[in-house]
Amino acid sequence: MTEVNNLLLLAGDALLYFAVLAGLFRARHRLGIGAFFCALGVMHFIETYLASAFYIALPAGVVTSPGSSVLFTGKLMMLLLVYIREDAKVVRQPIYGLLIGNLLMVALAAVMRHHELVTFAAGRAPDFGFLDQMGALMVWGTAVLFFDCILIILLYERSRAWLGDKVFLRLALSGAAVLSFDQLAFYAGLHVLTGAPASVLVGGWIAKMGAVAIYSVLVGAYLFWLERPAGRHAAAPRISDVFDLLTYRERYEDLLARTGRDALTGALDRGRLETEGRRAIADAVDAGRPVSLLLIDIDHFKSFNDRFGHAAGDAVLKQIAREIMATVRATDMVFRFGGEEFVVICEGLAAGPALSLGERIRREIAMTGDGTSSHVTVSVGIATCSERDFSYDALFQVADRRLYQAKAAGRNRVVGDLLAPGSASVRLAHSS
Ligand code: GH3
Ligand code: MG
Ligand code: MG
Repeated sequence: MTEVNNLLLLAGDALLYFAVLAGLFRARHRLGIGAFFCALGVMHFIETYLASAFYIALPAGVVTSPGSSVLFTGKLMMLLLVYIREDAKVVRQPIYGLLIGNLLMVALAAVMRHHELVTFAAGRAPDFGFLDQMGALMVWGTAVLFFDCILIILLYERSRAWLGDKVFLRLALSGAAVLSFDQLAFYAGLHVLTGAPASVLVGGWIAKMGAVAIYSVLVGAYLFWLERPAGRHAAAPRISDVFDLLTYRERYEDLLARTGRDALTGALDRGRLETEGRRAIADAVDAGRPVSLLLIDIDHFKSFNDRFGHAAGDAVLKQIAREIMATVRATDMVFRFGGEEFVVICEGLAAGPALSLGERIRREIAMTGDGTSSHVTVSVGIATCSERDFSYDALFQVADRRLYQAKAAGRNRVVGDLLAPGSASVRLAHSS
């Protein structure tokens, strides 16, 4: 009966903990998120105290401390909630704050024990042994927490690929995995410091899994009911919609990744060529690394449009962009420069390999055609530099000249040149 009582009380602890902290989090726009962080930080002290000395028996022989099950698990799930609704930059604040604050506390305690003390009341002597034990546990606990936080966020992100928008399952999965790891790590420390028996490891794990289940429901419900983005209240929301909206930050990042991309082909747009493309070249030149620029232009594309229509032309443009992006290395940047012209910037690629890459792109595109008159080809001009005084403009000019030469020589070909430092310029032309 006592065990059942303990279980009910533990569930009550978790509810109370969540209700107050979630309330503070919810009020963050009015109070500032500092109120929530302070409350969370204060809980850390009692959490460690409980975990070092306060254990209870639950049904089925499970022994646990509310410090680990209710407070620690709760803290981790609250930090995950902060990450979901805010971002990594915000959640970083309590993680660093807790770690450094705890180190400071232990350091201060180490200094303070050297004070000469006076007694102010009988029976109120300081307990340094307890302070030492708890201090060490606190440092160990926060060090593990540091990794837990990073791990739970990474897992939550990763789980999107497996579980999509099933937020509750993602919370439960990442929580269960990280708290299992945490239980092992924290128990190791506890065992060394306090000689805690193995039953604490197993009991603590079972209790933490129970707590993860409860908090996943609570955080999931919070996200479902309380942080529905505005503008959706009028219509009865479909569940899939709400959970989709809940991950607005993730979708915002998707959107960010998509802006700066050309809508038709998905290649990076001209604006990003001017900023990121230029910067990539400047950085490579500064670092003394080779960098190549490929200028790709579709052959006789105007007559293709004239014969087959612009819709067919658009489909070809998409296809060619896909082929270019599939052929280049993951680190290369593909931009749509103009109508049917693409620029590829290849950091670290010297003249020889750049020429091979250009040739591979030309061949892939030439081979894709079905052999009919609707078959298109491309011409490529390449400039490579590894000299300090070479700029994006200079590279582009050289590549443009090479492209013109490729066109003049009959199209469907690649013209590159070698501008290795100090060596004589060697021109290599490939034709099909
Ligand atoms: P060349 O071999 O000399 O490059 O011949 P070309 O006809 O490709 O010449 P140019 O590069 O001057 O022509 C570009 C043509 O590309 C003009 C236009 O019809 C077509 N074009 C440009 N942008 C788009 C687009 O977004 N969609 C479609 N369908 N066609 C486009
Ligand atoms: Mg053109
Ligand atoms: Mg063209």
